[in-house]
Amino acid sequence: MSIITIIGAGQSGLQLAIGLLDNGYDVTVVSDRTPDQIAGGRVTSSQCMFGSALAREAALGLDFWKTECPNVEGIGFAVPGPESQPAFSWQSRLDLPAQSVDQRVKMPRFIDEFITRGGNFVLESADIAALERHCLRSDLVIVAAGKGEIARLFTRDDQRSTFTAPARALALTYVTGMTPREPFTSVAFNLIPGIGEYFVFPALTVTGPCEIMVMEGVPGGPMDCWSDVTSPSEHLDRAKWVVDTFTPWESARTRAAELTDSNGVLAGRFAPTIRHPVATLPSGAAVLGMGDVVVLNDPITGQGSNNASKCAASYLASILEHGEAPFDAAFMSETFERYWDYAKYVVGWTNALLAPPPEHVLALLGSAAGDRRIARRFANDFDDPRDFFNWFMDPQLAAAEYLQPVAS
Ligand SMILES: Cc1cc2nc3c(=O)[nH]c(=O)nc-3n(C[C@H](O)[C@H](O)[C@H](O)COP(=O)(O)OP(=O)(O)OC[C@H]3O[C@@H](n4cnc5c(N)ncnc54)[C@H](O)[C@@H]3O)c2cc1C
Repeated sequence: MSIITIIGAGQSGLQLAIGLLDNGYDVTVVSDRTPDQIAGGRVTSSQCMFGSALAREAALGLDFWKTECPNVEGIGFAVPGPESQPAFSWQSRLDLPAQSVDQRVKMPRFIDEFITRGGNFVLESADIAALERHCLRSDLVIVAAGKGEIARLFTRDDQRSTFTAPARALALTYVTGMTPREPFTSVAFNLIPGIGEYFVFPALTVTGPCEIMVMEGVPGGPMDCWSDVTSPSEHLDRAKWVVDTFTPWESARTRAAELTDSNGVLAGRFAPTIRHPVATLPSGAAVLGMGDVVVLNDPITGQGSNNASKCAASYLASILEHGEAPFDAAFMSETFERYWDYAKYVVGWTNALLAPPPEHVLALLGSAAGDRRIARRFANDFDDPRDFFNWFMDPQLAAAEYLQPVAS
């Protein structure tokens, strides 16, 4: 059976590695961090995953937190209006619950499972020399190193990339003590036009159940406010300031919030980038990129872990179908293009939400407050954003489906 090496022990790398092991492949995962370092490190994501990505994990027997992790039962939406109240707000249930398991909890357990099922785990920060070495002993080397430096081996795809600079200043705050949202748990998404976005939802972290606050500030604007924060407690204070200032209707829930742990905070920024999927090493050997290495989205739509899971599932199918044939550059390109058939819609929708909302989008989101069909469709499309292109992305389709004037 083929020998496959995967660089990076994250969502995409470990999910694919375990899927390959279950099909009899000889699999090595290379990680620059031990499971203990991951568990004891800083948060990396808010990693909310929707029904179909969770199902892909469950199919591999990786749904270890199904009952322990709080469910995200819906999506809520609000836009500011006068007098500290939303101009409109609504909430709609998801057909299937979403869940967010802190990657500090999830990845060490996945590594454990990978080793238990017979995988070879190597601790190493892979560089080009290491890739050359792994190519010599492997039939296929896949780079799933997320935002790691090694991703730069893969050149930017200028045609498919929209941004050359970060579109948002990002911050994460993991908290306990937040008042639960009624009448059901949700990703509470607040859009503050011209300023940024604030969303918050329940999750499972190293200390147990929590809520994750995600703040996305337009660069240079008032929510781009993290550069002078020097400690976790200052970070929490700043997060509460953001909520009080821009989404005061969320303040009461947040008042008693405390950090889950001193590593439960993150601030940073990156430019969303699509990269060419095949990199050629100095020796001429080719390696295939996966997950964030090749499709790095802004987290505004909460799709990166979902994409990573779907990318892993798509690559697994391509590898299984390829049989014993050589894993050459043509195979690698085709494998990526099969995944891109899905991912391009997620990228298009995500990039659109980073731009100022066009009139028809505000009209749709406003109408959703009184039209449960729109609210339900918007909420459930997070699980498969391709459907946004049937009604949300195009003003004419939006008008035809939902916005036509009622005849008098
Ligand atoms: C603020 C923020 C919020 C987010 N919220 C969400 C959300 O709500 N929902 C969602 O779906 N997605 C979210 N994401 C995105 C999501 O976390 C990522 O898209 C996803 O984790 C990508 O998976 P991956 O397997 O490609 O890479 P990662 O999960 O990043 O894994 C890469 C691994 O490779 C390792 N590595 C790096 N370099 C090397 C090297 N040279 N050698 C060996 N190992 C290496 C890293 O240490 C890491 O363990 C968010 C991201 C951010 C930044």
